[in-house]
Amino acid sequence: MSLSQGDSAMQDNQRGDSTQSVHGGEQRQKFANSVTEPIAQTATYVFDSLSEFEEYKQGKRAHFEYGRYGNPTVSAAESKLAALDHAESALLFSSGMSAITTVMLAMLRSGQHIIIMEDCYRRTVQFCDLLGKFGIESTRVPPSDLAALEQAVRPETRLLLAESPTNPHLHVADLEKIVPFAKEHRLRVLIDSTFATPINQCPLDYGVDLVVHSCTKYLGGHNDLMAGSVCGKAGIVSAIKEFRDVVGTNSDPNTAWLLIRGIKTLALRMQQQNTSAQTIAEYLEGHDKVQRVFYPGLASHPDHAIAKAQMKGFGGVVSFEIDGDRERTRQFVEALQIPYLAPSLGGAETLVSHPATVSYSDLSEEDRLAIGITDQLVRYSVGIEDCADLIADFDQALAGV
Ligand SMILES: *Cc1c(COP(=O)(O)O)cnc(C)c1O
Repeated sequence: MSLSQGDSAMQDNQRGDSTQSVHGGEQRQKFANSVTEPIAQTATYVFDSLSEFEEYKQGKRAHFEYGRYGNPTVSAAESKLAALDHAESALLFSSGMSAITTVMLAMLRSGQHIIIMEDCYRRTVQFCDLLGKFGIESTRVPPSDLAALEQAVRPETRLLLAESPTNPHLHVADLEKIVPFAKEHRLRVLIDSTFATPINQCPLDYGVDLVVHSCTKYLGGHNDLMAGSVCGKAGIVSAIKEFRDVVGTNSDPNTAWLLIRGIKTLALRMQQQNTSAQTIAEYLEGHDKVQRVFYPGLASHPDHAIAKAQMKGFGGVVSFEIDGDRERTRQFVEALQIPYLAPSLGGAETLVSHPATVSYSDLSEEDRLAIGITDQLVRYSVGIEDCADLIADFDQALAGV
């Protein structure tokens, strides 16, 4: 038996988002009467006697054993993540990708098949292709296309993997439709909810089996750490933990501490980012130098109705196409003065990216255009700066287009 607080984290789901961000999953009584969670910077743990170790192994005594199997600060972060996502249990990993890859390797074996929604994170798609090496095949289907899903299912299909909202077109997976479909076909559903955060949606409430986050983004929230998480029912999460204990994709106490600290302001940050992104999306949609805006909070977005039904807020990422060619678009991106030109999203600092140059430069033009990554596409991750300043910055940069 390991000492994990994550299993008892469901206590106070009825409290508000900010109360949950601050207190969710936390023990009131902490080491040395500390208000905040201490950092247990240790690689291993002491047993008083061999019989104590035996009792621990027999599940009669709670104890930490070795750093790869667990750590009190990491457990505290896991407990908080479970509380926020309305989960029985959660696990922390060294990055979003180590969460995704560990979960999939733990759940699947050779001869099985998975379905992945198009428009998922590039490296996730790449990993699904890599799984072919181990005899696990995958099929890609357009987001929320039930007919395509129906066609893709095989007797050996085990897992349906979707992201919601997606990057960079902000497609929203229709969980009300996908989950019953998956149940009918006995598939497990894994949702990457990084772009939504537990503040904007809790996919587990819809009957999804597992939720993953890249905590590097909104949960950490300060562009200063890398971590990933998975949460769901205790049974399946504990099977994934056994696998994590072997492969060593665990996080470390310093990162876990930074994550707990970052999450304290999650609800506050998301409120600001949701509101600013909506304002910016509307501003851009009305601007004559902008051709098209992708934001689920706009009535013009194809998934607006689903997003409205399923989400409490529409997130902090806005993608849009400049009315101009590749060169004009690049000039516009470089003319912005407040955002940093950097990959990633979800932090306090606004970040901007030109996907055709940055994340998709390895694709041929034809493949890139086939998935909607046009030369004019810009991805903008709204930070927590004053929205009026961000808009004034758009004014000056768009004037130059
Ligand atoms: C960033 C990201 C990942 C990968 O997470 P890392 O922490 O960078 O490993 C996975 N999914 C989505 C949606 C992401 O945005």
